[in-house]
Amino acid sequence: MRDTEARPDWLTRGACRGEDPDLHFPVKDTNYAANVAKAKALCWNCPVLQDCFRYAMAAQEELGIWAGTTNADRIKMRAAAAAGQRAEMAVAS
Ligand code: SF4
Repeated sequence: MRDTEARPDWLTRGACRGEDPDLHFPVKDTNYAANVAKAKALCWNCPVLQDCFRYAMAAQEELGIWAGTTNADRIKMRAAAAAGQRAEMAVAS
């Protein structure tokens, strides 16, 4: 989330509050995989995980780890959801 944007209330209760922002916006260096795993582990124990996930999916956040997902994870989830909706529509028609 960019600094100029309003932060949702639930974000103040996130497990990442007070953490180094680089944890959830890791640089793609040699430690990238380990840093992503560390950020995801923090998310899995977060009390606002579901709020965060809904936000990241709705906002189509392209950067950072949100609700234990990378942007690549979220792209796959959106594609799977869209495929599921198309399948439901095909069955219903
Ligand atoms: S789920 Fe992760 S990114 Fe979202 S508020 Fe919690 S710790 Fe932060």
